[in-house]
Amino acid sequence: MIDEKLEDVYAEVLRRNPGEAEFHQAVGEVLESIGPAITKHPEFARRKIIQRICEPERQIIFRVPWETDDGEVQINRGFRVEFNSALGPYKGGLRFHPTVNLGIVKFLGFEQIFKNALTNLPIGGAKGGSDFDPKGRSDSEVMRFCQSLMTELYRHLGEYTDVPAGDTGVGGREIGWMFGQYKRITNRYESGVLTGKGIEWGGSLVRTEATGYGAVFFLEEMLKVRGQGIEGRTCVVSGSGNVAIYAIEKLLQEGAVVVGCSDSGGIIHDPDGIDLAVLKEIKEVERGRICDYSERRPSAVYTEGGNIWDIPCEVALPCATQNELTGRDATKLIANGCIAVAEGANMPTSPEGVRVFQDAGVAFGPGKAANAGGVATSALEMQQNASRDSWSFEHTEGRLRSIMEGIHASCYETAEAYGSPGNYVVGANIAGFERVARAMVALGLI
Ligand code: GLU
Repeated sequence: MIDEKLEDVYAEVLRRNPGEAEFHQAVGEVLESIGPAITKHPEFARRKIIQRICEPERQIIFRVPWETDDGEVQINRGFRVEFNSALGPYKGGLRFHPTVNLGIVKFLGFEQIFKNALTNLPIGGAKGGSDFDPKGRSDSEVMRFCQSLMTELYRHLGEYTDVPAGDTGVGGREIGWMFGQYKRITNRYESGVLTGKGIEWGGSLVRTEATGYGAVFFLEEMLKVRGQGIEGRTCVVSGSGNVAIYAIEKLLQEGAVVVGCSDSGGIIHDPDGIDLAVLKEIKEVERGRICDYSERRPSAVYTEGGNIWDIPCEVALPCATQNELTGRDATKLIANGCIAVAEGANMPTSPEGVRVFQDAGVAFGPGKAANAGGVATSALEMQQNASRDSWSFEHTEGRLRSIMEGIHASCYETAEAYGSPGNYVVGANIAGFERVARAMVALGLI
């Protein structure tokens, strides 16, 4: 329920942003949580902080023309929504996926504001991307696309202005091609303008692993306050991209058993435990599909179009995409014995699913807290770039772990202080919001 003081604000967001269902969902979820913070800080309402937070500072939409290997002209649409820079330069990933549209980029950019605030690092919120589909494209096609996108986007970027990174469909390879084009156009080796770079040319160790590792660290913190641990627990991780792979890696290092993963084509159930080396070979080296996994692992069953949440587990990590886990899925997971959920993806659980988990007392870590390790490590990459330094894996992983512990503590304590103990959704929304709102008040009406 949205506090009545915020009903008009929400109605206005719906009216001004028609048809953007995911953006409405993301705003609705934050507004449902922050009522008590508005009561506590009347100056936030006076300064119309919420109305300002819901309106991006700048939205850029542009044409991205490129040619296939056969010489056929293609036209895609590029986006960058620079949502909020009260805490630092705009920061957030670029997503290349056919489902990308303005509403998706706005939902992701909006979430990013609060996520970045929770890290306690100096980064504002943004998101971008394109409806370009990299699936089945050759290296040269993807490179030409990245160069064309950057030829327009570069004028909006800068290490003190806007610092993109990867998201779905954008990894180290794409960041390399975009960084190369930025460097060529500007004639500047401006390392801090993009994160997720390769380690030989300005990247940070642990950035690749950070989102997945961070989600597991957050999960461990949630279990710890309940006097529980992750060792020996059966886990299911949806997806098989970068976030899922490194969530699985950390779960295995911590002694858990991971019995399922997925891609958009189907699901793998491997009761003996996912063989991470095989999965990495297929996804990272061959850029293949997980249906190949079951051919190499006799213990595994591949189900085309199956529902991963039907696989029994104690811990679920949705690491694929938005709204992939519904109310029905949450009910099924609970019936199968699920006690904890940490979101590695952005908004993967539907509002109904979140309610089902919370009503059942499942430890539920929302994405803006649980998956903040990726962007936090991007901020550590920016620190290393600024000081022309590079840190060891151990040091960087230690920083990541303590950042995730800090995020957990601030969500946990904020939820308690506002009368919703154990509710990490309320804790994350209020803690993130308060930090941004304080900075916005301090910076005046801009
Ligand atoms: N796309 C990631 C996220 O959703 C990382 C963004 C970044 O590192 O800037 O947080």
